[in-house]
Amino acid sequence: MKKAVFPGSFDPITLGHYDIIERGLGLFDEIIIAIGVNADKKYMFTLEDRMRFISDAFQNEPKIKVMSYSGLTIDFCQQQQAGFILRGLRNPADFEFEKAIAHTNRKLSEIETVFLLTSSGKSYISSSIVRDVIRNNGDYTGLVPDTVRL
Ligand code: ADP
Repeated sequence: MKKAVFPGSFDPITLGHYDIIERGLGLFDEIIIAIGVNADKKYMFTLEDRMRFISDAFQNEPKIKVMSYSGLTIDFCQQQQAGFILRGLRNPADFEFEKAIAHTNRKLSEIETVFLLTSSGKSYISSSIVRDVIRNNGDYTGLVPDTVRL
């Protein structure tokens, strides 16, 4: 069984994440969407809200599980017996950042990282831009799944 972990902050989940997850469903038997908890980071949405936005968006998809974790992503993968990490790539900055993490993860474990290139039309979407739109009372609804509501 091919099991992948898609780690991230998902603060909040966007249509960019959604696209990567939907396409990942064609590659894996199970995808655990794993919200990394970092005590030093400030989030706009609570962990409960972030988890609910995702589980509601995929409520009819039995291959998706939503969980949270702290510590190293590879340790979480090993606990869950997942052999793959799924990540999305938007631009060269993502590539450079992801490359260092993926090499480190390979040095420390057997877990392979699988990258999907963002779909054209979604590459500009990021959680940080969505948060900015929300903070400034803009219309964020075209950037996120319908389940993300204030
Ligand atoms: P992190 O805090 O780890 O950056 P994010 O929630 O911002 O977490 O992102 C999680 C993953 O989703 C990353 O691999 C990121 O590259 C990917 N991602 C985010 N936005 C998009 C997008 N618009 N298209 C494709 N991948 C994306």
